Amino acid sequence: MQILDGKKLSKKIETHVANEVKILKERCGCTPGLAVVLVGQDPASAAYVKMKKKACDRVGFYSVTHEMPENISQETIESTISMMNTNKSIDGILIQLPLPSQIDTTKILELVNPAKDVDGFHPFNVGRLTTGLDGFVPCTPLGVMELLAQYKIDVKGKNCVVVGASNIVGKPMASLLLNADATVEICHIFTDDLKKHTLNADIIFVGVGVINLIKEDMIKKDAIIIDIGINRDDDGKLVGDVDYANVSEKCSYITPVPGGVGPMTISMLLQNTLKAAQMNAKEKQ
Ligand code: NAD
Repeated sequence: MQILDGKKLSKKIETHVANEVKILKERCGCTPGLAVVLVGQDPASAAYVKMKKKACDRVGFYSVTHEMPENISQETIESTISMMNTNKSIDGILIQLPLPSQIDTTKILELVNPAKDVDGFHPFNVGRLTTGLDGFVPCTPLGVMELLAQYKIDVKGKNCVVVGASNIVGKPMASLLLNADATVEICHIFTDDLKKHTLNADIIFVGVGVINLIKEDMIKKDAIIIDIGINRDDDGKLVGDVDYANVSEKCSYITPVPGGVGPMTISMLLQNTLKAAQMNAKEKQ
């Protein structure tokens, strides 16, 4: 079994992004800028935003976080986004999800300028992804594809089973795989007999949020396992959705948690923001 080391690859990507930032600064005096909206006090969201800000600092981006209270109004978030949409020093906008229940999340995501939508959640970019056109792709599934490419794992013609069908993880993961000529099945909470599907998979992508959902008897020998889940076990330890100890004995490749898909997600955010900044720099020339 071989580990798919997302931590190592993410460092390599960061070095590349930092070099590109230097080139951009020399060429046109532009510094890529990322604006983040963080609403409420959810510790996990705050931790993710902190990690993203640190990553921006490491590669030389400008970044700003708009922290808002839990009881914020729809109108206030909307006017903040409108401001960011026209602010020339901001290339990328990220709305940290989930937003509180009084907020219409769809409306908020639709308000983000698609050219600054570095999370790839705007329906414009979702449509481009499903059509196979260039655009902004959600960071987590994009990071998974980069990781597979790094280890020269070609998904073409492979039976790929995606477990979890959210807009953030499962659906864009499936679109990327389909665009890369994989045979794709998507399973979710209402899938009858999950094991029947996973046993047939050459590659399993699981992003659900259930500890030990994928067990050793649910995979075929030498399958490739991509664990996207992030959970805390009873001891507060970070774990994925896969029974790692047992599954890793039977599979050919596996992503660890932590150190697999998580760091790739952050480096893809950097890559997407750099892409937005490079597009804006071209427009200014
Ligand atoms: P979500 O709650 O929006 O979606 C969960 C999906 O899993 C749904 O489609 C649901 O139908 C499915 N599901 C739930 N229970 C299931 C079960 N028992 N069997 C089969 N399917 C089931 O969650 P999300 O935002 O997509 O996140 C999923 C997981 O991925 C979480 O653990 C989250 O922390 C993690 N995540 C990780 C990263 C990363 O960078 N590694 C990024 C985003 C999300």
